[in-house]
Amino acid sequence: MEISDKPGVEEAEPAFKFIGNVHGDEPVGRELLLLLANWVCDNYMKDPLATLIVDNVHLHLLPSMNPDGFALRRRGNANNIDLNRDFPDQFFPMNDDLDLRQPETKAIMSWLDEIRFTASASLHGVLHFPSLLL
Ligand SMILES: [Zn+2]
Repeated sequence: MEISDKPGVEEAEPAFKFIGNVHGDEPVGRELLLLLANWVCDNYMKDPLATLIVDNVHLHLLPSMNPDGFALRRRGNANNIDLNRDFPDQFFPMNDDLDLRQPETKAIMSWLDEIRFTASASLHGVLHFPSLLL
C-alpha cells in the first residue's frame, strides 16, 4: 500500500519502503506496519507528524512479503524457500537466474524497477512470550 497525499504520482519527495514478515514466523514487522498504516491514516490532519508524513513522503508498506509462511507459521514460503536468501547477492553471486527466484522475490524486484526508493527497510523479529513461573 502507498500512503501519500498523491499516491501513484512520482514527486520530488522521499519514497520510503518498508517490508515486513519476510520470514513467515516473524510476525512483528507485519503487525507494526499495519499499526503504522492505521495510525498515519487515522491521524492525518489531526497530528502534525502524521500530516507531515502524508504530505511530504510517499510511504510504501508491504506488511507481509510471505503470507504463505505466515499462514504455515514457518520461516520459508509455500515452497519452503527462505525469501531473505532468494535475492541477488553482490558479494556471492551464486543465484543470478531470475527464472529460479520465488514469485514473492520476483514481485519485489519488479516493484524496485518501478519505483526509485529513497530508503528501504525490512523488519525482522519474533515475539517471545515470557514463561510464567508459578
Ligand atoms: Zn527474519
